[in-house]
Amino acid sequence: MDFDYVVIGAGVAGLRASIELAKSGTVLVIAKDSLRESSSEYAQGGIAVALSDEDEVALHEQDTLYAGDGLCNREAVHALVEEGPAAIQELIDWGAEFDKHGQKLAFTREGAHSRNRILHSHGDSTGREIARTLYFKAASLTNVRFESYSAVSDLITAADGAVTGAALFDERTRSFDRVYSKAVLLATGGLGRVYKETTNPDVATGDGVAMAWRAGATITNLEFVQFHPTALHVEGAPRFLLSEALRGEGAVLRNKHGEAFMARYHELKDLAPRDVVSRSIVEEMRRTDAPHVFLDLTARGANFIRQRFPRIYETCKAYGVDISLQAAPVHPAAHYAMGGVQTDLDGRTNIAGLFAAGEVACTGVHGANRLASNSLLEALVFGARAAREMRSTAGSSAGAGSVAPTMIPDISESDLRQLTWEFCGISRSRAGLLQFLDVLDGVSLSPMLEPTLAALELRNIYEVAHLIAQAALWREESRGAHFRVDFPDKRAEFLLESNLVRDLITPLV
Ligand SMILES: Cc1cc2nc3c(=O)[nH]c(=O)nc-3n(C[C@H](O)[C@H](O)[C@H](O)COP(=O)(O)OP(=O)(O)OC[C@H]3O[C@@H](n4cnc5c(N)ncnc54)[C@H](O)[C@@H]3O)c2cc1C
Repeated sequence: MDFDYVVIGAGVAGLRASIELAKSGTVLVIAKDSLRESSSEYAQGGIAVALSDEDEVALHEQDTLYAGDGLCNREAVHALVEEGPAAIQELIDWGAEFDKHGQKLAFTREGAHSRNRILHSHGDSTGREIARTLYFKAASLTNVRFESYSAVSDLITAADGAVTGAALFDERTRSFDRVYSKAVLLATGGLGRVYKETTNPDVATGDGVAMAWRAGATITNLEFVQFHPTALHVEGAPRFLLSEALRGEGAVLRNKHGEAFMARYHELKDLAPRDVVSRSIVEEMRRTDAPHVFLDLTARGANFIRQRFPRIYETCKAYGVDISLQAAPVHPAAHYAMGGVQTDLDGRTNIAGLFAAGEVACTGVHGANRLASNSLLEALVFGARAAREMRSTAGSSAGAGSVAPTMIPDISESDLRQLTWEFCGISRSRAGLLQFLDVLDGVSLSPMLEPTLAALELRNIYEVAHLIAQAALWREESRGAHFRVDFPDKRAEFLLESNLVRDLITPLV
């Protein structure tokens, strides 16, 4: 197969990019599962944008920088907040419906935002509405073709190192295929499923980071994984996210004795930054010897809850928890990767022909911690920017190249994800990280004989876990979402340094 452009991923970043790329040539958009299975589809709370009467772009910028804890790329933040309003207007022009009060857009507030600036759709289905709008726009363009249920196993590289295409695996036929193009965009989303506890969908196995790493890309800031404080914790149920917007609307965290405990940990109480809330919950669970804490929104009454949070209400109810009548059991879970494939503001990686945008990329826009609801906006703004750059710089398709050998680690996925949660989770230490790396280094690797999607994903989870551990070991301080029990404070020498993983360690396989 030959296309002018290949886009790996059909979330907000990949869809937005494909619309732009279609202006200059043919585009293949690839999705590992159905086109709807992505983090974008599950994003509830909303999208941050400085559009309300009381808001200013400069305030959005300031809040983003503050959350990023000294490690944001200021130019990237500036581009995000400044281009945000036009990106939202464009979505509205394409048919996106955001909730309104009367004729005006309705803005809500989330943790660490100084203004009401979160737009939402159908109450708590914001990502789904944005993805729907972008999908219909992209599907209306004759230049865009979609390939679902097709997993990219590796990038194809030419002798000079440039990326020339992607190798695809079809689980149904157990066969590989190749697609060549002038330029490839990685838009594969996050890596939450490297961890046992995660809000991310099954597709988020860090494939983009792992395959870019194998192709020689620089990976940055991987130690910064945001743990969402409140995932539903019901035995046997997926870790469904209970959006921060619930606390924005008055939900209170309580321990097993019914006590509201956040005032003991932070002056902003339940609206403290996510990493603080996550660690406070873990401490409160330890102190009261409980497997979870509770999130209580009952004071807002059933009518409000059903209208404002219809999807959350129905999903919790399906798992036996009526949040209008009772507090929901919650536990922190891996949620968002601030780090990833290092790019400039136009999606360029250090490899010719390879671009990245959305959660898989690291422009530095989130620094050490992401401000809530900035990631959908990031996917929109930087998806479009990367595509514009691809249109203007892409050369011709080489139509040839090779892929890295496929070596599969001999460890079960559930053991690996449990270990990653334990040693690279909310609190890390030198001793724990070294122990984890010892375990990983002791795992034998063997060539894949019978290809399966599960084996390909296991390889990626293993490599990404290894990279996170290396990065977390290197950063001997606590900053943003990265907390080291043995270095609980910030240290000036790490202030402006990003952790460039490729400079630190040699390839794994
Ligand atoms: C439960 C939840 C709630 C969230 N709520 C919010 C919110 O309210 N506001 C906000 O701003 N952010 C939120 N986020 C974060 C936000 O949704 C994501 O950061 C954003 O949607 C990422 O978009 P993306 O396009 O980069 O990736 P995704 O939307 O995750 O899309 C990734 C795509 O890549 C494909 N893919 C992955 N690997 C491969 C492969 N090997 N081969 C082929 N295709 C592949 C997938 O199939 C998918 O199509 C939330 C995240 C979660 C999980």
